[in-house]
Amino acid sequence: MIEADLAANLEQVRDEIAAAAHKSGRSAGDVELVAVSKTHDADAVRKLVDAGQTLFGESRVQEAKVKVPLLPSHLRWHFIGHLQKNKVRHALPIFELLHSIDSFELAEQVDRIAAEEGIFPRVLVEINVSGEGSKHGLKVTEMTKSLERILELPRLSVEGLMTIAPLGPEAEESRPHFRGLRELRDRLAQELGVKLPQLSMGMSNDFLVAIEEGATLVRVGTKLFGAR
Ligand SMILES: *Cc1c(COP(=O)(O)O)cnc(C)c1O
Repeated sequence: MIEADLAANLEQVRDEIAAAAHKSGRSAGDVELVAVSKTHDADAVRKLVDAGQTLFGESRVQEAKVKVPLLPSHLRWHFIGHLQKNKVRHALPIFELLHSIDSFELAEQVDRIAAEEGIFPRVLVEINVSGEGSKHGLKVTEMTKSLERILELPRLSVEGLMTIAPLGPEAEESRPHFRGLRELRDRLAQELGVKLPQLSMGMSNDFLVAIEEGATLVRVGTKLFGAR
C-alpha cells in the first residue's frame, strides 16, 4: 500500500523534525518541511497532499510547469535547483520562494524580469560552504561583496541563505557546513545590517543535524517519496 507508506513517511519525518527542534530549544513550527517532489508524478504528490502536506520543492522549471497545474491550487511551491537565466520568466509565476540564487548575474536577471512583471520575488542566496568546485553557489570568500550587490536590487526580497552539504555517509559530516552557513548568516546580517531569517539546509540524510544548527527550511525528498 503505497498510500499508507507515504502518509506514514510524512508522519515520521514530521515527528523527527519536531524532536530535533525541541532538542535545540525551538518549536516544531520554526522549521518548515519542503517536500521535494522532483521526478515524482502528480499522483505521488497528491498522496502527500491527502496526508496534509502543502509545501513542495521542485528543481526543474520544465517539470514543474507540467506537474503543478495537475494539482490543487492551494499548494505552495519552492524552486530548489539550479535556475537557468532563460527559465526565470517561467519560474516566477510558479514558485513563491527561489532557494537557489547562485550568482549576481542570476539575481540581476530575476530582478529585471520581476520589474517587467510588477512583482517582488522572495529569494534565498545559495552559498557553496564547502568550496567544492562541482557545486553551484557563491563562494564564502566572495560572499559579502556579492550579497551587498544583490541586496541593492530593488525587486528582490532576500530572506536568507541556502546550502547543499557535500554528500557523505554520516549526517554528522554535514554539521560543520551547516554551522558555517549559520555563522556566515550571523556575520553578514550584522555587517550589512539586514535580517536574513531563513536558513535552507538539510536533506533526507542530514536534516536533523541541520535543524540542530538552525535550519528554518529542510528539503526532504527520498525519506518521503522513496528512492528516485
Ligand atoms: C533533490 C534535492 C533535495 C532532496 O534530496 P533527498 O536526499 O532526496 O532528500 C534537497 N535539496 C536539493 C537542492 C535537491 O536537489
